[in-house]
Amino acid sequence: MLLAAKWVLPVSQESIEDGAVVVSGDKIEAVGKRKELERNYPEEEVKDFGQAVLMPGFVDAHAHLEYSVFRGLCDDLSFTHWKMQVTKKSKKLTAKNWFSSAELGALEAIRSGITCIADTTDTGASLKASRQAGLRGIIFHEVMGMDNSRVGRIISEAKKNVSSWQAEAEGTNLEIGISPYSVYTVSPPLFKAVSDWAKEDNLTVCFHLAGSPDEYEFVKYGSSPLATSFLEQMGWNDLLWQPTGVSPVKYVEQWDALESGKVIVVHCIQVSDADIDILKKYDVSVVHCPKCSAKLGMGVAPLGKFLYRDLKVGMGMDSPASNNTMDMFDEMRIGLLLQRGLEEKVEGLSAENFIKLATLGGAQALRIDSEVGSLEKDKKADLIAVDVSHTHQNPVCDPCSALVYTANQEDVIFTMVGGRVLYEGGEYLTLDKERIIATTKPVRAKLKG
Ligand SMILES: [Zn+2]
Repeated sequence: MLLAAKWVLPVSQESIEDGAVVVSGDKIEAVGKRKELERNYPEEEVKDFGQAVLMPGFVDAHAHLEYSVFRGLCDDLSFTHWKMQVTKKSKKLTAKNWFSSAELGALEAIRSGITCIADTTDTGASLKASRQAGLRGIIFHEVMGMDNSRVGRIISEAKKNVSSWQAEAEGTNLEIGISPYSVYTVSPPLFKAVSDWAKEDNLTVCFHLAGSPDEYEFVKYGSSPLATSFLEQMGWNDLLWQPTGVSPVKYVEQWDALESGKVIVVHCIQVSDADIDILKKYDVSVVHCPKCSAKLGMGVAPLGKFLYRDLKVGMGMDSPASNNTMDMFDEMRIGLLLQRGLEEKVEGLSAENFIKLATLGGAQALRIDSEVGSLEKDKKADLIAVDVSHTHQNPVCDPCSALVYTANQEDVIFTMVGGRVLYEGGEYLTLDKERIIATTKPVRAKLKG
């Protein structure tokens, strides 16, 4: 198949005007000028997207698909209060409900040009939904517990689940990782036990770190509503939580949580230069979630410093429970504008930089950039077409500018993962949109009550 568009944006090289991509099986066979490729591949069926940009699919480096049905339910709350509301409402859902919610997320993902997802899940619903949708990615099994006496039991249960999830992921584009959720839900020995397990089984680890000011105060001073109301809500108020006197990053380093080799941390807002040194020392990947972080009043991560230190950085959208949409265009735009506002400069923060973060950067953060993240011969055919022919986009002179400053998720017209078309021009080829939306309505009604 020869896919053609006014612009091809390989990300690993300059954009190509009147370009094309030849897909053969699950891989990219060639990227170049349309005329040349039509000459070299005369047998290929041509699909022309017109005034559109063909580019690598987005890598959503941090998601919780199963929380999609919470969209708009807990808005305008600060981080801890939001977390407590979501936790409280979560108790109302059954396994079937979580699956419906994850399906809703998967539906939005493929509609929005997300081809690869790094999803943290407690129930495993997002594994099933991602598999059904045909997404690529890493599904992280959530691990939680603040009671030191339960570490052994938690790990053995998680090991059982992970091996059954691995069997379920067999033959798909998905792999399984582990997620010790956060410093306010995971005890120090549990962090260490997860790290030892990950090292032994070569698993990728992902957790939330240094997000809200409340989390910083929780770790350093043993205070904030996380240490009082949240621990009480979780039934952990009889466990002794003491100030550690250090930052969240230093704290997890002390418990060997960064040592397993393939570690991804999400948010990293409350970080000092010394913390960034620690992340660099262990080659930890950082997931930048600017829209969710700003919405919950967590702050703005020092992205410029991460890039200056050459950390692996991807973009994540967390979940519709906090972010409302899984729109990577919005995420890039807000991320870029927030950084420029924060840093009072424009240099090093271009539209092109953010497209790279949302594609190749995410693939690097997940350590799968040899397979995906850019349009290159022999990489997997994970690509999307974005229509830039609308009135608010004309005239287009630079595809990066059009994508970051004018596009949104509705402009995606084609999503392909590993050579398989998942979405094209309003049609979902792997999921049933009407059924999914109808199924989630009663789930939402349950949450509202
Ligand atoms: Zn998250």
